[in-house]
Amino acid sequence: MSASVTRGGEAARSRTDEHTWSQLIQSKTFARYDSSSRTGSLASLALELLDEQRKSWPQLAAGYASLTSVRTRELRCDGFPVWLQFNPGRIVSTGAKVDAQSIRGRRCFLCAEHLPPQQKGILYNDEFLVLCNPVPIFTDHFTVSHVRHLPQSFEAYAGTMLGMARAFRSRFTLFYNGPKCGASAPDHMHFQACPRGTIPVERAAQEEARRQHRRNVRGVDVFTLARFGRQAIVFESAQSAVLEQVLLALVTALRSVTGSAEEPMLNILCGFNEGDWRVIVFPRSKHRPDVYFKVGGEQVLISPAAVDIGGLIVTPLEKDFNSVDALLMESIFKEVSLESAMVDRAIESLA
Ligand SMILES: [Zn+2]
Repeated sequence: MSASVTRGGEAARSRTDEHTWSQLIQSKTFARYDSSSRTGSLASLALELLDEQRKSWPQLAAGYASLTSVRTRELRCDGFPVWLQFNPGRIVSTGAKVDAQSIRGRRCFLCAEHLPPQQKGILYNDEFLVLCNPVPIFTDHFTVSHVRHLPQSFEAYAGTMLGMARAFRSRFTLFYNGPKCGASAPDHMHFQACPRGTIPVERAAQEEARRQHRRNVRGVDVFTLARFGRQAIVFESAQSAVLEQVLLALVTALRSVTGSAEEPMLNILCGFNEGDWRVIVFPRSKHRPDVYFKVGGEQVLISPAAVDIGGLIVTPLEKDFNSVDALLMESIFKEVSLESAMVDRAIESLA
């Protein structure tokens, strides 16, 4: 066989693969949304999808049925409240093994070919699928997954996140978990979406007494939150292009102050309302607190990602839901949050 025939064969096979792949994506598409047309609302389409999937996909219906029996409990920490949510279904995420070897050894649950047969999504700009999360934390909970198996990266998709938040209008907040601090599929790019205002930090970020104006960087206002028990940086702007640049500058600054070659550990919330974006960044020092790794009765299964560090702490075990107190939450937040001096240096260096 000559080299040219071999190359031709591979090219043909790759075209066939590509054709099969686009047929697969098509078969998984409930509806399409193109942000350049700016017509309609991605939120309405997503809610239509959720209605349809609850009827056609038994696992999703069961997930939402179990959500009706979750319990919540308020803890009054020093300066801020948090809410515990007892949600047994979330053990799959809270207990997930996210080390590189476990990730390599498992089948990626976000790749289109591995989605349950009944699962469909909204194809967003031919690049992401808005999917219903079968283990919800919220009354409407979506996972927005890239159509390709590409690694989790905020820097690569910061602009996409801002555009998608606008497409969701004011109905949903998007959130992102870094590959090493909360993403249970660090190897497959994804966001999640929940109803706007359901993560407590969204309210805290609007409290005048808490908001400390730190900088105005090229028109983007930068705040931190006082008496909040963990570091949160709030960015507000009506200009997505410059906001994207400032967010990328923050990633670079955090990489520099932490000495990290990889993406610095981050959880990010992004909302759009009446023409303005608000992006809340939680810079992190570690993913899971020491109590997560204890054995026997001393172990506490709290694995903080965006929702938890945002103030809604998911506890899949009832004994943790009953026993976790304000002091423990304060110490967990302190332990997993980047220290304030480093955050201050990063904010000062933004340009
Ligand atoms: Zn994948």
